[in-house]
Amino acid sequence: MNGLRIPPGIRIFNSIKDFRQWRRQILLDRQTLGYVPTMGALHRGHLSLVSAAKDACDHVALTIFVNPAQFAPNEDLGTYPRTLQADIDALAQHFDHATVLVPQVKEMYPSGIEPDVSKQVGAFVEVKGFSHQLEGTTRPHFFRGVATVVSKFLNIVEPEEVFFGQKDVQQCIVIQRMIRDMHFNVKMNICPTVRESDGLAMSSRNTYLTSIQRKYALVLYNALELMKEMYENTTKHAPTLIGAATEFIHKTQQEAQTECEIKLDYLSIASPSNLCEVTGDIKDGCIMSGAVYVGKTRLIDNFMVDVKL
Ligand code: AMP
Repeated sequence: MNGLRIPPGIRIFNSIKDFRQWRRQILLDRQTLGYVPTMGALHRGHLSLVSAAKDACDHVALTIFVNPAQFAPNEDLGTYPRTLQADIDALAQHFDHATVLVPQVKEMYPSGIEPDVSKQVGAFVEVKGFSHQLEGTTRPHFFRGVATVVSKFLNIVEPEEVFFGQKDVQQCIVIQRMIRDMHFNVKMNICPTVRESDGLAMSSRNTYLTSIQRKYALVLYNALELMKEMYENTTKHAPTLIGAATEFIHKTQQEAQTECEIKLDYLSIASPSNLCEVTGDIKDGCIMSGAVYVGKTRLIDNFMVDVKL
């Protein structure tokens, strides 16, 4: 961390051993620790999780780690925004105290981490039944990477409570299952999606958008709004809702044609209990979600309709 300016109130650890020493003292003092896993490039969405952790626990720890295991070889691991100084400045601006673990890849993956899954060696965590659909269709190894790194961090941080954002709803479901099935001794909290004033879900990847693309980035949010509005007022038939939202995206695509490329990846109306698509009328609530490329940037968003995870 050469050249990093550490603002007052912020404690940074680079080694797992040093972090564990700090964490142990909290336990000895009979105080509680809330934990927020992140990949950095912090925005108000991340800060809302830190706030929730502060409200629930005596201390808060974040990790900032761009996890190679959740990026496919063709994805943006190399260019993912890394803004550590701005991140710790933002934490200091909003909170009196925060502790941040910024570990090295080689310490997190002692057996190494090959980009090609077939060449990987060592321990990995899979959550079957919830990882292959929706986001997992185009990113088949993504949730294996996420579950693996979150399980490593839960073993390192040993928090009483952990905080995730609903923005990544499938990730929440996968981690909820993992915590339950692997008996991690931690309470999981899911916090609401923080949005820009026009509705765009905050994301570290929004920084990739040009100003024209930013204008069209609302296409997914608007498509989800359309489905929700129709569900509330017109029909609960899932395929009809998906049809209307798909048509809306195609229309926006045509309008944007010369200015910016829009590509629909998927739209889904799924049951929260098994993440299977609803093929008829929505009966017990649902998760409306989707992914759209605006230029080269892949945006995701979701609404939970009449359900709570
Ligand atoms: P990331 O750094 O993208 O891996 O995200 C770290 C955590 O922040 C995850 O639990 C995300 O779901 C959460 N998060 C990301 N964006 C938002 C948002 N707009 N509102 C609330 N939580 C978010």
